[in-house]
Amino acid sequence: MPWFRADLHLHSCLSPCGDLECSPSAIAATAKERGIALAALTDHNSALNCPAFAEACRRNRVAALFGMEVTSREEVHLLCLFETVAQALEMGQVLYAALANIPNRPETFGDQVYVDIDEVILGTVDKHLTAAVSYSADEINDLVLARGGLFIPAHIDRAVTSMQSQLGFLPEGNYHAVEVLRSPCSLDTGGYTQICDSDAHFLDDIASRWFEFEADVPDFSGLKEALARGAIRLSIDW
Ligand SMILES: [Zn+2]
Ligand SMILES: [Zn+2]
Repeated sequence: MPWFRADLHLHSCLSPCGDLECSPSAIAATAKERGIALAALTDHNSALNCPAFAEACRRNRVAALFGMEVTSREEVHLLCLFETVAQALEMGQVLYAALANIPNRPETFGDQVYVDIDEVILGTVDKHLTAAVSYSADEINDLVLARGGLFIPAHIDRAVTSMQSQLGFLPEGNYHAVEVLRSPCSLDTGGYTQICDSDAHFLDDIASRWFEFEADVPDFSGLKEALARGAIRLSIDW
């Protein structure tokens, strides 16, 4: 079975901390250039750039997943990935309703724009997207599973906004994998499959970390099965 390279943690110009050059089109083109077969767009708490990302990935012949990096009530970052844009957008609506009502100040936090395939701005998001939602990590896990998505605690060994920094340990959950920054991970990963991603906020950083998975096809099902089997190789292990 072939191995495919994936980077499942990418921020666009919709994330206040994401570079404005990170349009969905530019992200898809850069991922293709760097040999990524499966890419996921994971802006903070929103999927509004996923429609353009889907089209851009189709044009660049990169397989795509759609989702977001949710900030839980405990300020833990969680990757939530879906097979379709519609699933991601619906989850995004649920999250936005539960997002703290802190207005975004572009001059302080950065812009939060969503765009079309040609980088035309379609709108801006009012609430500050890196704030926390009112759901716990556990509740977000349930929301994602109920929608058939993949749930992956993000950068669990990071010094901020991680399971390690916020909770001190990795609680048990229905995780499809955990994302690590280092291997071996400084946190007890409890036997969960590990992946690593770039968490790119700039085009240059795309695919600076990646993993490979073994599957017939580099799609949602192929990835899900590979994660369950542990058929994963990390760039940071080499
Ligand atoms: Zn994060
Ligand atoms: Zn991130």
